[in-house]
Amino acid sequence: MHICVYCASSIRIPQIYIDTARELGQGLAQRSWTLVYGGGSVGLMGVIAETVHAAGGKVTGVIPQGLLDRELGYLAADDLIVTTTLRERKQIMEERADAFIALPGGFGTFEELLEIITLRQLGYHNKPIFIVNVNSYYSQMLAQFERCYAEGFAGPIYREMYTIVERIDQVFSLLEQIASQSA
Ligand code: AMP
Repeated sequence: MHICVYCASSIRIPQIYIDTARELGQGLAQRSWTLVYGGGSVGLMGVIAETVHAAGGKVTGVIPQGLLDRELGYLAADDLIVTTTLRERKQIMEERADAFIALPGGFGTFEELLEIITLRQLGYHNKPIFIVNVNSYYSQMLAQFERCYAEGFAGPIYREMYTIVERIDQVFSLLEQIASQSA
């Protein structure tokens, strides 16, 4: 499987998020699942890519030329796909992945998560999306989603488009079920 991870470019964040990214990276490598991500060497992105490699796994990075030029790319990636635009990058990440996982992050992560949810809502894909609500990081965003349903901006049926988990082991047990069904 190819698993797309959206996560922070910052490292000036609480340790619990760094530990969570490491746990996810190790779990991906143990299962021989390829990490597909934004191709950065900074923040949680760098942590997860290095962890996957250290544990013997494979990394596909998809990065726009502009970020690569600013030396923010993870050049050790097994496959580093360089795109012209941010939009093209997101599309390639979407196409290559069998599932999407949002770890804690900032605006870039929010944007990627909301876009992948929107694309599923509109029927462009039907792949699983996980929101890792470690340390309740996403609770306020999830509360906003609930308000959106409550006030009729989206049908409550769309709650089924994403799965909220608090721990990484929950992501893996669900993904293993999916992998065994598609095997
Ligand atoms: P943010 O959550 O604002 O830190 O942005 C992180 C997300 O946006 C990641 O999932 C990346 O796909 C993308 N991104 C932001 N900054 C970079 C960077 N320096 N290198 C590669 N990707 C980045």
